[in-house]
Amino acid sequence: MHDQRVQLYDTTLRDGMQQEGMSVSVDEKVRIAHKLDELGIDFIEGGFPASNPKETEFFRRMQDEPLASAELVAFGMTRRRGVAAEEDENLCVLADVFTPSVAIVGKTWGLHLAKVLCVSRDENLHMIDESVRYLAGRGKQVMYDAEHFFDAWRDDPGYALQCVSTAAAAGATVVCLCDTNGASLPPFVADVVGEVTAALPQTIVSVHIHNDSDCAVADTLVAVEAGARQVQGTINGYGERCGNANLCSIIPALKLKMGRDVVSDEQLARLTETAHFVAEVANATVQAHAPYVGRSAFAHKGGLHIAAVERAPQTFEHVDPAAVGNEQRIVVSELSGKGTVVRKAQEMGLRIEADDVRVASVLKRLKDREHAGYHYEAADASFDLLLRHELAPHAPFFRLESFRVIVEKREDGHTVVEATIKVHVNGDRLISTAEGNGPVNALDNALRQAIVGKYPHLSDIELVNYKVRILDESKGTGAVTRVLLDASDGEESWGSIGVSENVVEASWEALVDSIEFGLLRGHQG
Ligand SMILES: [Zn+2]
Repeated sequence: MHDQRVQLYDTTLRDGMQQEGMSVSVDEKVRIAHKLDELGIDFIEGGFPASNPKETEFFRRMQDEPLASAELVAFGMTRRRGVAAEEDENLCVLADVFTPSVAIVGKTWGLHLAKVLCVSRDENLHMIDESVRYLAGRGKQVMYDAEHFFDAWRDDPGYALQCVSTAAAAGATVVCLCDTNGASLPPFVADVVGEVTAALPQTIVSVHIHNDSDCAVADTLVAVEAGARQVQGTINGYGERCGNANLCSIIPALKLKMGRDVVSDEQLARLTETAHFVAEVANATVQAHAPYVGRSAFAHKGGLHIAAVERAPQTFEHVDPAAVGNEQRIVVSELSGKGTVVRKAQEMGLRIEADDVRVASVLKRLKDREHAGYHYEAADASFDLLLRHELAPHAPFFRLESFRVIVEKREDGHTVVEATIKVHVNGDRLISTAEGNGPVNALDNALRQAIVGKYPHLSDIELVNYKVRILDESKGTGAVTRVLLDASDGEESWGSIGVSENVVEASWEALVDSIEFGLLRGHQG
C-alpha cells in the first residue's frame, strides 16, 4: 500500500458540462455534488461563482447544504493582463467565496501566449505569481491548473516547468498539469510527470487530461505511477469534444488494480449507481459498453463464455462486478447454450437440469425464432414467456377472437385511428372499441379497456417505448418487421418482441407478451 494518498478531483460540474448538448439546472448540480460526495470524491469543482446567475445561485445553495466529506472548489483564472491581482474582479470573487479551496487556470504554452493572448512570457509568469500569491494571502488553498502544459513541455520544457514552479513558490499547494487538447500518449505523460514531481517534491502534482487520443484514462494512470498525487476527471468522461478522463474507469483501476485506496469498498460499490444517476440527471445514458459501469460491462452472450464464467467468473470478468456495484448478465441469443437456459430458469425460480429434454426444446425454439428475425437480447419478457411455455405453462389471461383496426384519413388533414377487439376471459366474451394516435396505440387502448375490469393491475402497466425495424431478406424469409416494446409498472420495466410481415401483427404479438408478462408479475405479487 502506498503511503501517499491519491486525491480524486471531479470536474463534472465545470468541465463536464462543456460537453456538447449537456446542461443541468442549479438543483440538478446540487444533487450531483452530493452524489459525488457519497462516492468519496475529495474535491468537487463547482464552476466560477460569478460567471452567471446560475453559478452564483449554485454556490449559495451549496453554502446552505454543505457536503459531508468532499470539498467544494471554486474555479477561475489568473488575473488579466495589466491589472493588479487585488483589483481583478474575478480574483476578488474567488477570494470572497466561502469555499476554502480555489482553482485557477493560467497559460503555459508559448504559442498560445504569442498568437492568442499577446502576453509576453515574463508577464505571464508575473500573472501566475501575483494571482496565486494574492489568493493564498487571502487564506485560500490554491490549486494551480497549467493549461496546455504538455504542449508547452514539447515546445520548451524549461519554461513549462518555470510556470508551475512559479505557482508553487507563490503558495499553490497543488499544480495541475493539463493536457488541454488531449494530444499526449502515456509514455510521454509518464516522463513529464516524473520530471515535474522530481522538480517539485513539496507540491502535490495533479493531472487533467482530455480524451482526444482516447488515452485520457491511461495517461492519468501512468501519471499516478510516475508520482502524481491528484487526478482530475469527470463522471462518464463527460467534457468538451471527446471528453475528459473518465473517473468511472480511473477510480476502480486505482483501487482494485494499483493498490491505491482512493475510496472505501462501500463507496466503490456505489460507482455504477453514481454513473447512471449523473447520466440520468444530465438527460444522457451511460454507454452500454462503458467499462465497469455499462450495462454490457459484465454481460456474456457466447455459449462457451457463459459456461466458463459459471465455473470461474474471472475467465471473462476482469474484476468482480459487485465491487463496482454492477452485475453479471447472461444475454439470451441464438449463441446461447443449455447453461443459459438453466440459468434463466433458475432466475425465474424454476429448477431444471441441463440434460432435461425441455432444455433442448427451448433452445431449438429460441434458435428457430432468432433465425426468423426475433432478437431476445432486448426482449427479456418474451424470452421469459417462451421459457414458461415450455417449463411451466400457465392458462392464458385472455383469448383473442378477433381484432380490427381502421385508419381513416380525412379531407381536413386529420387521421383517425380506431380499433375494435373481441376477447374471451374465463368464459366471458368482451368487446371493446377505442381510438388512438396510431394503430398500435388504438389496439392497446381497446385491449386494456376490454379486460381491465378482470385485471385491475393492468392500469399500472404503461408502454414506454415502441421501436420498429424492417429486417432485410438476408435470412431467406423475405422482408419482415420487428417490433420491440418496452413496458413498465413503475417498479420494473421489461421488453417484448413481435416479428411478422405485417407491422400491426408484429405489434400485436409484442403487445400480448408485454401485457401477459406484466399480469404474471402482478399475479406473483
Ligand atoms: Zn479541461
